Amino acid sequence: MRLTTFEHNETTSIGALVGDEIVDLCAADKTLPACMIGFIAGGAASLEAAGKAVESGEHRLPAGDLTIKAPVSNPEKVLCVGLNYADHAKESGMEPPPEPVMFSKFTSAIIGPGETIVLPEESEEPDYEVELVIVIGEGGRHISEADAMDHVFGYTVGHDVSARDWQLRKPGGQWLMGKTFDTFAPIGPAIVTSDEISDPHNLGIRLRLNGETLQNSNTSQLIFKSEELVAYISQVVTLRPGDLIFTGTPPGVGFARKPPVFLKPGDTAECEIDEIGTLSNPVGASGQ
Ligand code: MN
Repeated sequence: MRLTTFEHNETTSIGALVGDEIVDLCAADKTLPACMIGFIAGGAASLEAAGKAVESGEHRLPAGDLTIKAPVSNPEKVLCVGLNYADHAKESGMEPPPEPVMFSKFTSAIIGPGETIVLPEESEEPDYEVELVIVIGEGGRHISEADAMDHVFGYTVGHDVSARDWQLRKPGGQWLMGKTFDTFAPIGPAIVTSDEISDPHNLGIRLRLNGETLQNSNTSQLIFKSEELVAYISQVVTLRPGDLIFTGTPPGVGFARKPPVFLKPGDTAECEIDEIGTLSNPVGASGQ
């Protein structure tokens, strides 16, 4: 199922994308919460109710008439993995790490498809990174690799917008500030449940800036795959329904190019992953 959060007549609801229509799941089944985290926490019962709503053929709205929001806007955690593609580590001048390099973003960075990435006055080097994003289903702590995929609800497309000057050169030696400016975590347009993805670790992944392809790889190149990431992270924190894990970006980012390419107002960034979708966001300047 392809699940969206959308607005219609100033009401927020959860929808299933079917062709160019969205099935309003909360209208079809009043027991379903109008909140993606609640829907995910409902587990198999939510998916069963959603399946019945889709089969009924009712409560369908043209997707083009709706405002598609970030599929999850308020996860408890947004975890991110750095240097998770060997070629990207190399272009960044770093060794592929022996275990995942973790950082985080705050939920204030999350925006949905079509919303503007606002470039802050405080950065001269705003960069792009397309990423496969894991959406956690059933939560847990100390999840084994063998059980990990039972805790993956699905996947979405993410854009790990990164202020390189803040990430790499500011004092402190950590990445948080450069990664979590407001609007620096676009996600969407839909969460695709795991059963609809043939192999999450063999999907074409690419980023186009103003129509030009600047990143073009495959999730088969991930160093640490979903199972390892869920197991690794859950050693430390309890994962909860709706938590997001940005899994890292392939090569081709802007700061590693000669000459460098940075985001500028008026750009359009499109992040695309096969079988999951295309996340498109305009880029603007703060104060505009
Ligand atoms: Mn990243």
